[in-house]
Amino acid sequence: LNFAKAEFVRSAGRREDFIRDGLPQFAFAGRSNVGKSSVINRLVGRKNLAYVGASPGKTTQVNYFLIDRRAYLVDLPGYGYARVSQAEKERWAKLMESYFQEEADRITTGVLIVDIRHKPTANDLVMHDWFRQTGCPEIVVANKLDKLKKSQVEPALQLVRETLELTEADILLPFSAEKGMGKEDLIRLLVQTCGG
Ligand code: GDP
Repeated sequence: LNFAKAEFVRSAGRREDFIRDGLPQFAFAGRSNVGKSSVINRLVGRKNLAYVGASPGKTTQVNYFLIDRRAYLVDLPGYGYARVSQAEKERWAKLMESYFQEEADRITTGVLIVDIRHKPTANDLVMHDWFRQTGCPEIVVANKLDKLKKSQVEPALQLVRETLELTEADILLPFSAEKGMGKEDLIRLLVQTCGG
């Protein structure tokens, strides 16, 4: 699966626009500003496939990128940005509810992106639960690794593990979208979960 061969396919703002063609789907979720767009851009080796720094809340859409014509990278709308309107929050909730209710069987792998420097938020926990309920394998990506000193990494990972109640079997991957650490591991894990 060549992640460098990536193309934008569609933004779905309504459930009618979700893609249902049977190809594997990797669903990426994370709170606004956690670096989700940067992680996606790092994976595909492009600067601007996913739009970094997109004004949070303005784009309550599910974005589909086709990878190597064989799988989708699904960019779910970010959450947890304080300064969005109530109407926007409701749009987000409605879209995500239909996504997780109706698309659950289509999610090949869930990728939850958290900030390695912080305890996962209540919203991160909700998202983690939604992924768990789909029964799909989940990879938790702890982004912004470059911002920590070496000695801080293990305790930080431990806090993420404890807060999300991960077991030894769950995958937690330290990552830096900025520097590229973890990229090859994440690609390998995604390829594994979709059966090669
Ligand atoms: P999104 O809202 O989750 O899509 O987050 P963005 O990808 O727009 O990133 C938010 C900010 O965090 C930007 O200023 C990025 O440059 C920065 N950022 C993202 N990933 C990393 C990382 O791994 N390390 C560092 N130091 N900064 C990062």
